[in-house]
Amino acid sequence: MNIYRKIYNKIKKYNKIVIARHIGPDPDALGSSIGLKEAILNTFPKKEVYAVGIPAAKHKYLGDVDTFNESMYENSLLIVVDTPDLKRVDGVDPLRFEYRIKIDHHPLVDKYCDIELVDDTASSAAQLIMQLIFKTPLKLSKSVGEKLYAGVVSDTNRFLYSYTSPKTFNLVSKIIKEAGVEITKVYENMYLRSIEDKKLESYAILNMKVTDNGLGYLFIEQDELNNLKTDAATMTNMVNFMQYTKEMIVWVICAHDASMGCVRSSIRSRGPIINEVASHYNGGGHVFASGARPKDFEETKKMIEELDLVCKEYGGK
Ligand code: AMP
Repeated sequence: MNIYRKIYNKIKKYNKIVIARHIGPDPDALGSSIGLKEAILNTFPKKEVYAVGIPAAKHKYLGDVDTFNESMYENSLLIVVDTPDLKRVDGVDPLRFEYRIKIDHHPLVDKYCDIELVDDTASSAAQLIMQLIFKTPLKLSKSVGEKLYAGVVSDTNRFLYSYTSPKTFNLVSKIIKEAGVEITKVYENMYLRSIEDKKLESYAILNMKVTDNGLGYLFIEQDELNNLKTDAATMTNMVNFMQYTKEMIVWVICAHDASMGCVRSSIRSRGPIINEVASHYNGGGHVFASGARPKDFEETKKMIEELDLVCKEYGGK
């Protein structure tokens, strides 16, 4: 039996299903967990299905999340999306569930589920949920389609990244047609930004240092974030707007996050593999899109040096 059918059979069997995703959720984590919840409810309206984890105010357009409580562990199925490592599952202890399924597109880190659908050639977790829906009787709706479309668009950075494949375009085409996705509505929710936010992007570019090997980097202290009236998460997110800058093959924004006691770092690449370096600094992720949490600027400097070396070994810009 194929893995999609196996997953569907478990969904059919359990009356209580909890869907979890990683901490610090992005539109792929939210779109795929809330989209899957809705697809299950479209198919089995009487089941109890919860999409859990701390909500993210800026992605509220992707729908509400459910508050987890202890009774949800009893006789229930857990489906974790978009999360390769056990320690980054948000708000639940996967090991306390009766049965566990993982659906993920990151390189394998921990094997912690009974069924593991892991495909690191897939663009996004949302792409895998689309496949699950198209290969089983799970039912699509416009709302499900829009959430999954947002997940793919976000994780491929609007189809710019190399893991955008013919399969991605086939599935996206099918979902737009069959669910009636209004793509401009989705983009408006995802990409409408204030002028203040756009000024932060300019700040990041203006202050970026670039090495001879093609590494762009920016350090930013908490005091400076306060002056700019922003936070570490918003600032590091600016890496997503710097793709295809001639002088940079890898670029990283590192912002001191006083509340978390670390330096939040987002790294992107258009060639060298970066997740190995990220994993040395309390991080990980994809080969060309990773995050890390070095504990202070001393450690961050070491990470920058390692990233610069990776650029050098790659042959520079
Ligand atoms: P970000 O730069 O936060 O958008 O993250 C890019 C990718 O790296 C996503 O797939 C994240 O799930 C992953 N990632 C970010 N931070 C970490 C971390 N501290 N540990 C492991 N993976 C991470």
